[in-house]
Amino acid sequence: EKELMIQAEKMSVLGQLTAGIAHEIRNPLTAIKGFLQLLQAGVNHKDEYYRIMQDEIEKIEVITSELLSLSKPSTHTRKNENVGNLIRDVVLLLQSQARLKNVTLQVDEPINEKIYCDSSQIKQVLINLIKNAIEAMNEPGNINLFVETIDEHTVINVQDEGVGISQEVIDQIGVAFFTTKENGTGLGLNITKQILEGHGGFLKVMKNDIKGSTFQLYFPKVTTS
Ligand code: ADP
Ligand code: MG
Repeated sequence: EKELMIQAEKMSVLGQLTAGIAHEIRNPLTAIKGFLQLLQAGVNHKDEYYRIMQDEIEKIEVITSELLSLSKPSTHTRKNENVGNLIRDVVLLLQSQARLKNVTLQVDEPINEKIYCDSSQIKQVLINLIKNAIEAMNEPGNINLFVETIDEHTVINVQDEGVGISQEVIDQIGVAFFTTKENGTGLGLNITKQILEGHGGFLKVMKNDIKGSTFQLYFPKVTTS
C-alpha cells in the first residue's frame, strides 16, 4: 500500500512537470526544424548544421529517457550513486519550471560524494524538494544545491530564497496531507520522509537567517574500501 502511494505521488509530481518538459523538448525541435529548412534551401556550412541538429536531437533523447526511467516503478536496486549525477539529472527536468519564475538552480560543483540508494527514489525526493523550493519563491533568486559531510552523514542541501517557514509549519512537516497551498497534496514531504527513512537517513528543515529555508537530506556516509 505504501508502495502504491509512493508510485501515485511520483506520477502526480511527474504530471506537474509536463509543461516545463514540453518546453524542454519543443525548443530543440524548433531548432531542428529551422536547420532542416535551411538545408532544404541549399546552404553552405552543411556539416555544421548537421552537427547542431544532432546535438539538439541528443537533448531530446536525454530528457525523454530521464522521464521514462523516472516513471517506471522503482526497481529497488540500491547502488553507490554519485550525488552530483542524481542532482544534475533532476535539475535538467526542473530547469524550465524554474526559469519561468526567474529562478536559477545553482549546483555547487564538483560533487564527488556517493550515497547508497535507489536512484529513482532519491530523484523523486529531490524533485519534491526542488519543486517546493520553486513554489516558495515569489521573486527572482537562486536555489542552491550543495553537498557536505556532517559527522557520519552525507548531506544534500536544498536552499531557497523563498517565503521561509515558520516553526508551526516545521512541526507539521511530513504529516500526510499537511499543506498550506491551495492546490497542494501535502504528500510530497511525507513521501520524502518515508523514502529517506527507508535509506537509513532523515530530513532536517531550517529557516534561513536572511531569507527562505533549507531542507537537508541526511544519508549514512558510504564507507569506501
Ligand atoms: P505540498 O507541496 O503539496 O503543499 P509538501 O508535503 O510538499 O506538500 O509540503 C508541505 C508544506 O510544507 C507546504 O504546503 C508548505 O507549507 C511547506 N513547505 C514545503 N517546502 C517549503 C519551502 N521550500 N518553503 C516554505 N515552505 C515549504
Ligand atoms: Mg510539494
